[in-house]
Amino acid sequence: MKFPYCSHSHSHPDPHAPALEIKGLGVSYLSEGKFALKDFDISIKAGSAMALVGPNGAGKSTLFKAICGLLPVRCGTIRVFGFPLGACHNRVVFLPQRSEIDWQFPLSVLDFVTMGRYVYLGWFFPCTKKDINIARDALKEMNVLDLAHRQISQLSGGQQQRVLIARALTQNADLLLLDEPLNAVDVTTRQTVGEVLQKIKAQGKTVIVATHYYDHEEGRYDGAIYLKDGKQISGTKDQQGPEDLGCDCP
Ligand code: ADP
Repeated sequence: MKFPYCSHSHSHPDPHAPALEIKGLGVSYLSEGKFALKDFDISIKAGSAMALVGPNGAGKSTLFKAICGLLPVRCGTIRVFGFPLGACHNRVVFLPQRSEIDWQFPLSVLDFVTMGRYVYLGWFFPCTKKDINIARDALKEMNVLDLAHRQISQLSGGQQQRVLIARALTQNADLLLLDEPLNAVDVTTRQTVGEVLQKIKAQGKTVIVATHYYDHEEGRYDGAIYLKDGKQISGTKDQQGPEDLGCDCP
């Protein structure tokens, strides 16, 4: 099995290509097993903010993991800024769900966030002062610079989410895949995340946010992609809203 992001390759994005173009995508966790995502097609213009809406188990994380090369593609094609997977992997950042991180790992917040720079560093090249300053700026942007020297095991849920987003920001990617960044966080964190999403979009970057709660966040996005049981559901929110999808909206 060959994963596309094994080698370092930093092609420049094609400015005229869609940020993301997927045709006939099929992904499964076992090479012969049931598809977790099937017949998926999408073309997303650079600079858009899209919601990826669906209940638990719909295939949202599977799609993100396939786009960033963490799962092999069983059929179909994925092109990022006009290139096949892996050609400009430093331009794509995936923010996993908080529950996927080992928060007990002994690491300071600053070290954790600086990991967002690793995509630019070789195995034997340590972070420079510039990398550390970029990480500090991201912590500042998320209003958690005061936590820089705390252990990640000592963070609250909202702080964990801010620190995770700070790590994604340090990569300075052009396509951000955010897996439920607003799930179970306090109101202040929601506001900060919302403001940062607006800023990212204003910088011309492309953002896809997996969410259950599109009804409450609709104004933030240019459109929505709906998923259910690994299948894409076409239509606008009015025709096929979260209730039809069985989302557990608040
Ligand atoms: P969502 O992110 O929308 O909650 P997922 O992409 O996590 O959905 O899951 C889509 C489908 O893939 C589900 O049926 C889920 O059970 C299956 N799945 C997810 N992760 C794994 C895994 N590691 N191994 C096998 N099946 C998985």
